Amino acid sequence: MKPKPRGRARDISGQHFNKLTALYPTLKRQYGYVVWHCRCDCGNEKDVALNCLIQGHTGTCGCGQRRRAIRR
Ligand SMILES: [Zn+2]
Repeated sequence: MKPKPRGRARDISGQHFNKLTALYPTLKRQYGYVVWHCRCDCGNEKDVALNCLIQGHTGTCGCGQRRRAIRR
């Protein structure tokens, strides 16, 4: 038996998720979700899985997070 993807791949191109704008789907999959190539408001680009975008887990490239003291 082949696992069939249910429904069509969701097209979120051009949609904004916080600071990220979905540009195009990549061929990558993460946890069964299409990984989208996104651009952040700050100009960085990042690949984010669809579910992370729509569930709001990932809304920036990482730039929007408060800086924590990072020890080097
Ligand atoms: Zn950013």
